[in-house]
Amino acid sequence: MALVECPRCQKRISSKAKQCSHCQTSINGNLASLAKISHIEKSNQLMNHTFIFLTLFVAGAVLWFWGGEVAQGSRAIVAISSFAIGFSGYLITRIRIVMHKRKSV
Ligand SMILES: [Zn+2]
Repeated sequence: MALVECPRCQKRISSKAKQCSHCQTSINGNLASLAKISHIEKSNQLMNHTFIFLTLFVAGAVLWFWGGEVAQGSRAIVAISSFAIGFSGYLITRIRIVMHKRKSV
């Protein structure tokens, strides 16, 4: 008997278990493919986050330089916030992707 990670809650369960004892996800004896699917889904989710943050980052930059003059007032605040959120969010998501890829299936 080996211990494996539950694909949904990531807690350690027996590889022979039919159902996760923590979150009641049914395993149906096909844990390997279930874990693989959830790994891929998580990767896709992280890629979507990367895309959202990148869009925010670019939108902030565009807003800042819109019309060839530097933004002022509320436009500057919106531009800087979306630029900063996009940038830090992108970095965090990249780190999460690296961490996620280290986890082998
Ligand atoms: Zn579980």
